[in-house]
Amino acid sequence: MLGGIRPSSQRRSWWLREALAAEAAAAPQLAADRAAPPLRGTTTADVVIVGGGYTGLWTAYRLTELDPRARIVLLEADICGGGPSGRNGGFVTNWWDELPTLVERYGDDGALAMGAAMESAVDEIGAWCEEHGVDAWFTKAGSMGVSAAPAQDDAWADGVRACERLGVADRYVPLDAAAVAERVRSPVFRGGVFMPGAATVQPAMLARGMRRVLLERGVRIHEHTHAMEIDGQRPGWLGGLGAAARQAPERRGSAFGRRAVRVRTTSADGDGEVLASSAVIALNAWAAAWPWFGRRLITWSSYMILTEPIPDRLADLGWTGGEGLADSRFTLHYLRTTRDGRIALGGGGGRAGFGGRIDGTFTEDDLSVRRATAGLRRLFPSLRDVRIWDAWGGPIDISADHLPWVTSIPDRPIHAAHGYSGNGVGPSLVVGRILAARALEAVGDHALALPLARTDRQPRAFPPEPAWSIGARIIRETAARRETREERGRPVGPLTRELSRVSRRIGYHLGPD
Ligand SMILES: Cc1cc2nc3c(=O)[nH]c(=O)nc-3n(C[C@H](O)[C@H](O)[C@H](O)COP(=O)(O)OP(=O)(O)OC[C@H]3O[C@@H](n4cnc5c(N)ncnc54)[C@H](O)[C@@H]3O)c2cc1C
Repeated sequence: MLGGIRPSSQRRSWWLREALAAEAAAAPQLAADRAAPPLRGTTTADVVIVGGGYTGLWTAYRLTELDPRARIVLLEADICGGGPSGRNGGFVTNWWDELPTLVERYGDDGALAMGAAMESAVDEIGAWCEEHGVDAWFTKAGSMGVSAAPAQDDAWADGVRACERLGVADRYVPLDAAAVAERVRSPVFRGGVFMPGAATVQPAMLARGMRRVLLERGVRIHEHTHAMEIDGQRPGWLGGLGAAARQAPERRGSAFGRRAVRVRTTSADGDGEVLASSAVIALNAWAAAWPWFGRRLITWSSYMILTEPIPDRLADLGWTGGEGLADSRFTLHYLRTTRDGRIALGGGGGRAGFGGRIDGTFTEDDLSVRRATAGLRRLFPSLRDVRIWDAWGGPIDISADHLPWVTSIPDRPIHAAHGYSGNGVGPSLVVGRILAARALEAVGDHALALPLARTDRQPRAFPPEPAWSIGARIIRETAARRETREERGRPVGPLTRELSRVSRRIGYHLGPD
């Protein structure tokens, strides 16, 4: 248990430690060294997937459905679920709250099609767990956004209006203060909005369950295997603006001919390479360091804290229905309960990374943990004495419009997706289907008809470094300061207000309005 409030320095989140312990007890044969050993030497595949989070895992699963004979190799630098897929909040949300942005991106019909696909993804994750005997605690109890200060009132108004206009008003429903209190009681909640189609999962149980199913289906997984080079490209400092960006893509012949993709790897066991007909890059925030994606993606840290078990205190709050909960700050707090009656709370800020690097500040930042803890105490003052049991952090991958995109490298059989902006648990299933269909050139596949698959339009680039990091820090600090003052009913000076809005003013969906 944490004495002070600091990240636990555990490499693994509480979720993942629990999942690995359950896995070791139930199926010791699934241990990494036996079931998913590091790659050594040369191997071949039809599709090589780089990254063993949900995106890579759902892509692999869909490939096994589309072509059960396909030879699939998945490379993961850590273990599957070792990244954000095994350390997130476990909110499986759909995109009805994102409808205004979806309309901007795809028009009314496209927005509705994407909303429906993401809504269905939530149920499909539940059904998938059921079908494969994966107990990932899938609970479809909806998700509630609340206002916890006058400045947050009606933060959801644009989303609600868009849902009403497009005939899906029942997917994102405003609640008055009394209706909020029927679900969860807090002296600071003033009203809210409910998304009935959302669920929660134990995130690492899902990731590890997917790994088990893929191994059973014959996917070759190599954990502790770091992809150093893909098709001649290497990750570079400053998102590829360094020497790596100038490397020419590799076009050498191979057993697969000129179209083959070569992925070079390294591990404690030695070097390796995969030659494949196509590749899927599923690196999430780590993609920001690869020249192909560079400035279209920024990295930001996000932290979670976990309380000791407090089932009686949850009952006092009336929070027994399993709903997800979030306030309406830009430096958002999102909270959910666990099976043993704890609260897991995420957010409160985090920090922007520099030039695509993911360093220790993504997992060892005391300030972010203290801010998350302060958020819990403010939202639920009655929990002041509750002890924080654990804390951990991880990187999120932010795109300019806060939605992911799918892309293929021109003239190369290499496909990628990222930019979830901290909301990838549900969407990664849909994205994985698109990536799998692209990798196998399954032209008639229904996933390719989705608006998300129909365009390779990349989101706007972020400003170059060091301007971006400096600007992001200023915006982040002024946003946190502004929102904290608003919550305390204190005046916000014009300079703080304007600085906190700068990124919105220049067209990024980042920061408060
Ligand atoms: C603290 C936190 C809370 C979050 N909460 C939520 C939430 O409640 N709901 C939600 O929807 N989303 C949430 N997210 C975001 C969500 O976790 C991600 O969007 C999602 O997990 C993305 O999955 P992925 O497979 O694309 O990426 P990841 O899970 O990051 O997988 C990428 C993998 O690539 C591996 N890798 C990196 N470099 C290499 C290399 N060179 N070679 C081989 N492998 C490599 C990494 O080790 C990693 O495992 C949260 C994220 C964080 C950090």
